[in-house]
Amino acid sequence: MENCLFCKFIQEHNQKVYEDELFYIIKDINPQAPLHYLAIPKTHFKYLTEMQESDIANLGKIFAKIGEISIDTLHLDGGYRLVINQGDNAGQTVPHLHIHILGGKEMGWNPA
Ligand code: 5GP
Ligand code: ZN
Repeated sequence: MENCLFCKFIQEHNQKVYEDELFYIIKDINPQAPLHYLAIPKTHFKYLTEMQESDIANLGKIFAKIGEISIDTLHLDGGYRLVINQGDNAGQTVPHLHIHILGGKEMGWNPA
């Protein structure tokens, strides 16, 4: 998708923490926790409701991989939180679906 930051990053981002054929992980530029990553599928869609069958299957694999690499690669010992902002009320600013991965401290719970 032209003019999409997270599509551009597939080619251009040079500090990926993890990458495979389905998605990549980068550090968030404006971290909201000591460890704040973004897991970004390589196909462009903004909303869960726009997913093709392949996107649905891939998202399951992406979640499984995040779990698999959570300690060795992401250093999320002690636990972590996954967040997907959808639309304006949630504060979604980049219209390419991404999973926030937050950790590195004991977190509170006040998402609203
Ligand atoms: P959203 O608000 O759409 O759920 O999340 C977008 C996230 O992308 C924000 O947390 C924001 O800090 C992050 N972000 C925006 N631009 C950049 C960038 O150029 N590089 C990186 N690493 N993160 C970005
Ligand atoms: Zn995109």
